[in-house]
Amino acid sequence: MLGRKWFIALVAALGLLVSVPAMAKQDVLFGGASITGVYYQVALQISNMMNKHAADKYNYIGRPTGGSVFNINAIDRGAFDFAVAQSDRNFQGFNGVADWEGKPVKGLRSVFSMHPETVLLVTRKDAGIKTVADLKGKRVNIGNPGSGQRGNAEDVLKLYGLDYNKDFSAEALQQAEASRALVDQKIDAFFFTVGNPSAAIEEPAQSVDLDIVAINSDAIKKFVAEHPYYIMTKIPAGTYKGVDKDVETYAVTATVVTNEAVSEEVVYDMVKTVFDNLDELKASHAAFRNLNPKEMLGGLSAPLHPGAVKYYKEKGWM
Ligand code: GLU
Repeated sequence: MLGRKWFIALVAALGLLVSVPAMAKQDVLFGGASITGVYYQVALQISNMMNKHAADKYNYIGRPTGGSVFNINAIDRGAFDFAVAQSDRNFQGFNGVADWEGKPVKGLRSVFSMHPETVLLVTRKDAGIKTVADLKGKRVNIGNPGSGQRGNAEDVLKLYGLDYNKDFSAEALQQAEASRALVDQKIDAFFFTVGNPSAAIEEPAQSVDLDIVAINSDAIKKFVAEHPYYIMTKIPAGTYKGVDKDVETYAVTATVVTNEAVSEEVVYDMVKTVFDNLDELKASHAAFRNLNPKEMLGGLSAPLHPGAVKYYKEKGWM
């Protein structure tokens, strides 16, 4: 039998053991976009990397969302720690234009650029749409209002002289629904601004003959030349089943953003993990294959977060 003193000591020791809490992990929320797009893969794959390499400190959660506009507003409210958004939307958000007219998101901060995203007009071959002008009289998804593509679709239509309130029947579907609606013949075409390849086009291409329509009029080229965050580009033949020619259109850059209020440590740890293990991120999705540090530090339309600057300076990249 243990003596009384021993018994008290044992109880005290056990009490100490159970009362010391395990070091709490910090939850970090990362906003993507539609589950069929590439942003959701950015949020998921970076979350996977953090939960593997920094498992003792963080619990990262990747979330599907409505897209760029939704994400910038969620970052503004502090609802997400990180999110992905188009470079043109970041410029507009930070500077208070377009969707943010008169209410700039001054706390928006860039972390790094990801993959290029093309402004795509995807149609079924049987819909008879060969040019943007052929959208007249058709049923077309121009994107949900929280998405980045909604603004791109509006710009393209304006530059081609089309009015979506009059010239065709416009839908504002989320991308996952739009891909399905195209297969089900409920719409004839959709706009989507996305990295390639995207499941949102690969999947419908398995069941119907798809085409991608060029967006390359002189007015578009002039518009692109006037904005630093747009470039003309081509989707190479063979990127999607059934699309056997290069298609010219314009592109933006997907950017990881945060809020100035997110701590330097949280941003630094994420940036360091991503760049120290960049090969892992590149291998996680075909759209990330060409990522390289030099380009990832370019194309940023909001100021860099200090946690990112700290790492880039350590590396001698700035
Ligand atoms: N660019 C789209 C947006 O801003 C999202 C693309 C994607 O899901 O990969 O809403």
